[in-house]
Amino acid sequence: MKYFLNKNFLLNNQTAETLFHSVASSLPLIDYHNHLNPQHLAENKQFETIAELWVTGDPYKHRTMRINGIPENGITGNAPDKEKFLNWVKTFPKTMGNPLFHWTCLELKEIFDVDELLSEKNAEAIWTHCNVKLHGNGFRAIDLLRKWNAETVCTSDDLLDDLEPHQVATNLNLGLTVLPSLRSDSMIAFETPGFKGWLSKLSQTVGLEITSLNLYKEALLSKLDKFDLAGCRLADHSLDGGFVFDFSEDTNPDELFARLISGTTLPAKEIVILKTHIMVFLGLEYGKRNWVMQLHIGAQRYTSSRLRKLVGPAGGFATIGQSCDIAGLSAYLDALDLKANLPKTILYTLNPADNAPLATLTGSFSQDGIAGKIQFGPAWWYNDHYDGMKKQITTLANHGLLSHFIGMTTDSRSILSFSRHQYFRRLLCNIIGEWVENGHLPNDYELLNQLVADISYNNSKKLIGI
Ligand SMILES: [Zn+2]
Repeated sequence: MKYFLNKNFLLNNQTAETLFHSVASSLPLIDYHNHLNPQHLAENKQFETIAELWVTGDPYKHRTMRINGIPENGITGNAPDKEKFLNWVKTFPKTMGNPLFHWTCLELKEIFDVDELLSEKNAEAIWTHCNVKLHGNGFRAIDLLRKWNAETVCTSDDLLDDLEPHQVATNLNLGLTVLPSLRSDSMIAFETPGFKGWLSKLSQTVGLEITSLNLYKEALLSKLDKFDLAGCRLADHSLDGGFVFDFSEDTNPDELFARLISGTTLPAKEIVILKTHIMVFLGLEYGKRNWVMQLHIGAQRYTSSRLRKLVGPAGGFATIGQSCDIAGLSAYLDALDLKANLPKTILYTLNPADNAPLATLTGSFSQDGIAGKIQFGPAWWYNDHYDGMKKQITTLANHGLLSHFIGMTTDSRSILSFSRHQYFRRLLCNIIGEWVENGHLPNDYELLNQLVADISYNNSKKLIGI
């Protein structure tokens, strides 16, 4: 029997151990997509309690606490933070088999030197131990990221967000580069009640009265240029369950936009046509700026309207939506490719049924001289666990070139979630180690070391051009 969480955790053979300890473990992290709060980084925030850092803002934990029957007030409601922490402690032992169990142990061990298993018996002692550390030296926001060896992080920012905090955080010179990346959803959220207000704020910030589709595009371009100047290298669209493209040319998008801003409620089909038009416009603009376009495909965020009302749209109650419209997605990439401005693209799926189609799409839009232009992104959200990561890696290896894979990103709101990079690297080394030990790959460390270093670090660095 192997000991739980020892230095060879998840490393089940000698080759895996060698690859992890001699190559993967010491490489810096580039987290090219996450939802960290840039203001926390700019002020190098000191967290009051382990609950604030670890529990109150983590929808992954909230979800399992609800499944465990904890009342909502003790998860996201008015209960004191300590009570929420204790509710997480009650839930933690029930998460065996879920990645949260491993992440929790890794985060307490690696950052706070807690070797004991979290339980109701030691909860009080661990609460005090972690809080004392958080108030001491070397446990502020950026310090914590540096403990994970984070080198560059790219946050997700709305077109109207302030990009100053990123620069301020980088200028602290604490060894971390913080870059904005563009969360593009609001630009095509035509059907939502908030779009009109968002549009009028855009008008104000760019000093342009947006009365037509052309002026809307002009305003978008001016903001895209500001993002580019601030170091943005990636954009990100969430294409939720059932997202479709419609390239119909019999409807004039200028007219659709004019009707939309005059207050008309457009039928669903016309909304799709307008979205497709702007998605093509944006994709080409990303390409011109040499940005990376990320498409997060397949979340079903409309489930419980009760919870949506109570805790907001990203409260940890979404599910996996239907599989992707592969024909529409291909047509979209093709439309950009035909205009010679298809950006480097990362395709993520929440529905594992899309793994093979997206892994094969990495070979459909290659470009002369550019390695790994279309990426099948790392296992995302509900796939971010031992089996899901393994499936993503092996599917990509079977259908594409694993050597060009850009590796892990956390997509997380929590600084402690950077444990997932270590988890990923251990698993990656284990898979490669198994191939070697089974005689499926040569025992050639020059080749193997390069493969591990490229996936863990070099490829993501190259992809975003830093
Ligand atoms: Zn995200």
